[in-house]
Amino acid sequence: MSDNIKNTTPAGSDSDAEKPDGQDGSSKEYDNEASTGKSGGMSRRKALKYLGAGTGALMIGGAGGFYGYRKSLQLSSAEASRVSKAKFVFAGGSIGSLTVAARLLRAVPGADVTIIEPREEHHYQPGYTLVGAGVYNREDVIFDQGSLMLSGMKWVKDYVEAFEPERNRVITRNGDAIPYDYLVVGLGVETNHGSVENLSKALETDFVSNVYNLEKAGKFRRMADAFEGGRAIFNYPTGYVKCGGAPQKITWLSEDLWRSKGNGLRERSDINFFTPRHTVFPAVPKVDDAVRPLIEARGIKNHFHHTLRAIDTSTRTAIFEQSSESGETREVRQPYDFFHAMPNFRTPKPLREGPLTREGIGGQLSVNRNTLQHTQYTNIFGVGDNAATGAAKTAATIRKQAPVVAGNMIDDILGRELSNSYDGASGCPLLTRYGRCMMTEFDFDGNLQSEWLYQPTRETRFWWDFKVHGLKRLYRHVMLNGYV
Ligand SMILES: Cc1cc2nc3c(=O)[nH]c(=O)nc-3n(C[C@H](O)[C@H](O)[C@H](O)COP(=O)(O)OP(=O)(O)OC[C@H]3O[C@@H](n4cnc5c(N)ncnc54)[C@H](O)[C@@H]3O)c2cc1C
Repeated sequence: MSDNIKNTTPAGSDSDAEKPDGQDGSSKEYDNEASTGKSGGMSRRKALKYLGAGTGALMIGGAGGFYGYRKSLQLSSAEASRVSKAKFVFAGGSIGSLTVAARLLRAVPGADVTIIEPREEHHYQPGYTLVGAGVYNREDVIFDQGSLMLSGMKWVKDYVEAFEPERNRVITRNGDAIPYDYLVVGLGVETNHGSVENLSKALETDFVSNVYNLEKAGKFRRMADAFEGGRAIFNYPTGYVKCGGAPQKITWLSEDLWRSKGNGLRERSDINFFTPRHTVFPAVPKVDDAVRPLIEARGIKNHFHHTLRAIDTSTRTAIFEQSSESGETREVRQPYDFFHAMPNFRTPKPLREGPLTREGIGGQLSVNRNTLQHTQYTNIFGVGDNAATGAAKTAATIRKQAPVVAGNMIDDILGRELSNSYDGASGCPLLTRYGRCMMTEFDFDGNLQSEWLYQPTRETRFWWDFKVHGLKRLYRHVMLNGYV
């Protein structure tokens, strides 16, 4: 970890990147071996399944790892040989894709793995909140994408333009057609600035930012440092949210920063959190019960059932829609001197407008939430934020999903029942103030896991230090090397 990381005393690709509008249709094939079979029934995959039953006892990879032990990932040499004949393509060089790919290569060093990712920089996004809080510098969260590509990973530096699941291939922006036997979709989700009227314009002013993008997180930090008091507002969006704890965390850290300045700044600041939901952290009721009184005791005003609709930059006013219990709505105008403004999220265009989603899931990949297999195309799997599992969208989720995806693809190749099941486990380090964190791990239903370990209803220094100094190492050295 970089020496740049500051101590806990407060101190002083845009996901909306350009998206392709279409393709010219001039696809060229990379590999003529590509199958043209249909969903889950292509001849090449069948062939892989029946490529001889090995009896060798040599166990390759899958040596347990730090976090998981998956039987599907412990293979005989004959099984590994069958798996190595499959062509795996990963859409997105995301933490999700790379962790699955690394896990696969750990089990089968000869696996044929291709990653389609246009960007040269990979961002450690869980660190964005700490950039906004002035604990990390921008370079602390940037990895060279090439350094994350393990030996055996082929990197196609291009955008996925379209999915063609009926032909088992992906079309890139350059017009290349990349065939696969198995496809893993890990494109993440992006902020949708168009969901709030005038947000893009507001983000160019000196009073509005957010921590959902590295440049804006830096700007947020500068704004927080320069704040001299007044009305500060923070909002939570509707729909699915990447790291559903981050908008709250940055509110609480800002309050702590201004309080710690000790020059009356806190007293001059009116701090407000607006959310469409009925409470602060509904994902885990037990944690919500613990954290909400702590926050309210610090004078942060929570406003529930409020959805941000527009921003008027000329009068510095945020326009919310407030809904009542009976479902009536009314417009509420909130002036601001400082605004952490959040739009909704969406999936990248090839996913939200392509054949791999379905009605009612907000453009996400349609998967079985336990096996993470696509609901229609059995040779397609999803990992991370873009998958419609209903689980929290965090890197902690991916740590649990990656071995499930790798194991189930291997099961499928070997003609076995899918034996790995994702249980919805996710985590969230709630940074309640500088030097304090409530660490939570929970399942699909918001039930806490390993309470004895995390002590999730307590603010502790230990979990703050773990978040600041430990989790990035876990991400870089454990997840990205496939030790999950
Ligand atoms: C402010 C903030 C705080 C967070 N805090 C935490 C935390 O404390 N703990 C935690 O566990 N998680 C946290 N997260 C969430 C975590 O960072 C995400 O859940 C995780 O990064 C999602 O990974 P992913 O694999 O789904 O996709 P991402 O890592 O988002 O990657 C998506 C990749 O797809 C690529 N891509 C997009 N479109 C295309 C295309 N058309 N073709 C090819 N490639 C494409 C992108 O370039 C990118 O590399 C936080 C996130 C943010 C923003």
